[in-house]
Amino acid sequence: MTIRPIIGLEIHVQLATRTKLFCGCRLEFAAAPNTHVCPVCLGLPGALPVMNRQAFEFAVLGGLALECDIAGVTKWDRKSYYYPDMPKNFQTSQYDLPVASKGGFTIPTVNGALRRIGIIRAHLEEDAGKNLHEGLNHTRVDLNRAGTPLLEIVTEPDIANADEAYTFCVELQKLVRFLGISDADMQKGQMRFEPNVNVSITDDDGTEYRTPISEIKNLNSFRSVRSSIEYEIRRQVDAWRDDHDYTLEKRGKQNFGWNDQLEVTEFQRGKEESHDYRYFAEPDLVPAKLDAAELSGFRARVGELPLVRQARFIKSFGMTEKDCEIIMADRATADLYEAAIDAGADTKILTKQFVGVWNHIASASQQSVAQTGIDAAAVTQLAQLVADGTISASAASQVAEQHCKNINTAEPSNARDSVDLAAIATELGLVQERDENQLAAWVDAAIAANQQAFDDATTNPKKAKAALGFLRGQVMKLSQGKADPKLAGQMLEDRLNKSST
Ligand SMILES: [Zn+2]
Repeated sequence: MTIRPIIGLEIHVQLATRTKLFCGCRLEFAAAPNTHVCPVCLGLPGALPVMNRQAFEFAVLGGLALECDIAGVTKWDRKSYYYPDMPKNFQTSQYDLPVASKGGFTIPTVNGALRRIGIIRAHLEEDAGKNLHEGLNHTRVDLNRAGTPLLEIVTEPDIANADEAYTFCVELQKLVRFLGISDADMQKGQMRFEPNVNVSITDDDGTEYRTPISEIKNLNSFRSVRSSIEYEIRRQVDAWRDDHDYTLEKRGKQNFGWNDQLEVTEFQRGKEESHDYRYFAEPDLVPAKLDAAELSGFRARVGELPLVRQARFIKSFGMTEKDCEIIMADRATADLYEAAIDAGADTKILTKQFVGVWNHIASASQQSVAQTGIDAAAVTQLAQLVADGTISASAASQVAEQHCKNINTAEPSNARDSVDLAAIATELGLVQERDENQLAAWVDAAIAANQQAFDDATTNPKKAKAALGFLRGQVMKLSQGKADPKLAGQMLEDRLNKSST
């Protein structure tokens, strides 16, 4: 018997617009209930919606990055259903003319290969409000969320297992953040997932069975995507073992919820077919149009996709995957890195400083490097200071921290002009001593005070290496850490070589 899971995903991504999809109400997470509402998003009779162009443009950018065909004309449809959090009794969505269709998204797999998952469509729709269940006796409705723009992305059932689904969701989060079309903050429900799962079972006679498709509703974490799919595959195979009539043919599609505490799926209801929704064209909205010139402009804005850029960074700049993850935290940080490379920064030092210095500072305030306001001049200068031996690699952190303090306190207009990290290094007394007479004096003093180490270094091959290391340490100690270790070490070695010949 062989088992092959068949998995597709429906993902709702909240777009990072300032206002709602069809009205001017502001989007604000956790605002007091029903404070961001108007006749349009309350669904009052006679109110007329107007499309938020920004949301439409974000959807086009998302569609292009998912390698989709973009519709020149896309229209709106009403999807009818009745819920207390949906006072209009329909959701404005897109049915037969989605903004984007027939694409693909390439993700890395565990063995390092790449896999392209087909994208059926991506369309715009509005979110519903929220039911607030308060105790056993009453539920209140908050309509602040009603009308929030969502991009619904539907994949082909190309996903082979739970890990791949997990990776898809993680990579999609990176993509939408990279494009700047969504903050994709899971804590705020800005990304929600609905896996469709069933299993193809081929028994020993070669007969294939397909279990009913389960749609697991409304997951809001990557972990629950993985766990619920793993659970559902096991459950379906067991159900089929008990009853060979447990098939898609006989049972159709079914909706399940995910119980995060018990880690089990729970049957909700048989799934509606699309005709149950009585889709029909929205008469109150004009179709959204996009001409060829606008489309090519959007294509240029998408630019190089994260996975392609990541591969280029790793190859061209010799960084590890882990470093790359940090440097590509967002598009602006990656741009900052490349700007410093273009300005002539040493690649190895720059990478080290991005990960160990700049990112360290940025993460203390939960920001990306670019979000802290550091510019390309600063990161280039810091790399340069270490490359030419002006400061030590470890002193770089202090210089960077002082620079960040300065830009946080400076008037925004002055901050750009005053980037001078060498001056900061001097002020902090971190400039390394490179004067050869001074270094020679420390070398002499270190040798004079440690005759045994000097003898070992020059005449005892077995102990020479350790003795050299010891003497290096003594030189640095005498200089109180000020000596340029590279230059001083070189001078020490020259002295020892001269004495041993
Ligand atoms: Zn409104």
